[in-house]
Amino acid sequence: MIRVQNMKKSFGQVEVLRDITLQVNKGEVVVLIGASGSGKSTLIRCINFLETKSGGEIFIEGKSIDPKKDDLTKVRQKVGMVFQHFNLFPHKTVLENIMEAPLIAKKADKEETKQEALRLLQKVGLSDKSNVYPSSLSGGQKQRVAIARSLAMKPEIMLFDEPTSALDPELVGEVLETMKQLAQEGMTMIIVTHEMGFAKEVADWVAFMNQGRIVEMARPQEIFNNPKEERTREFLNRVL
Ligand code: ATP
Ligand code: MG
Repeated sequence: MIRVQNMKKSFGQVEVLRDITLQVNKGEVVVLIGASGSGKSTLIRCINFLETKSGGEIFIEGKSIDPKKDDLTKVRQKVGMVFQHFNLFPHKTVLENIMEAPLIAKKADKEETKQEALRLLQKVGLSDKSNVYPSSLSGGQKQRVAIARSLAMKPEIMLFDEPTSALDPELVGEVLETMKQLAQEGMTMIIVTHEMGFAKEVADWVAFMNQGRIVEMARPQEIFNNPKEERTREFLNRVL
């Protein structure tokens, strides 16, 4: 479970996150939507401590995380992240990519790690690709490997920042399908996406961000059929 309490983030004088309070319970999927520049990426980067918040608190499993005192490497192991660009290691095979973090960061047993990596590859539908290099994969396959690589750390929660927006349209579906499957298995997730069909189908909650605030957070049918806030309505009219 993750709770963000009154979080703020500024870059210099510019306030990018103004007062974010958000709770994601175990097994829930929250989809973050909002215009470009509204702060979606900054919010999830702060949750993963890739950015340092300027104020407020972040609780992971009930514990407030203090970046000055807590071991952020350990914290990040609990919080998996998948980006728009896959950042796979080009000189490592698919299997080696997935095994890398558990072996290095957790000093896990090699054979166990390999078995787990193979299981994850099967889960994302890429059992036949274990020994190839990323350059021979399609964008959708690379992104599914990136998801498997994140899962290899056994995170408590997965954060996705527009995981399909760099993909050719015909490859988007397979990645969304993988994410949907994760959701059905009970993974806790925060997903930034412009795929509104996916949000409708998979999200437990949809949060609409505008100018550094969560303006409205509700069940998908509420947000899409009956938004309370004018700004949500305007945004949806533009994108739907
Ligand atoms: P998009 O949909 O385009 O990805 P976003 O909602 O993810 O947008 P952010 O990337 O979080 O938006 O950016 C929010 C604001 O913070 C923007 O005005 C952006 O210019 C600013 N910003 C983000 N990162 C930095 C940085 N490292 N330094 C200064 N300003 C930044
Ligand atoms: Mg972004």
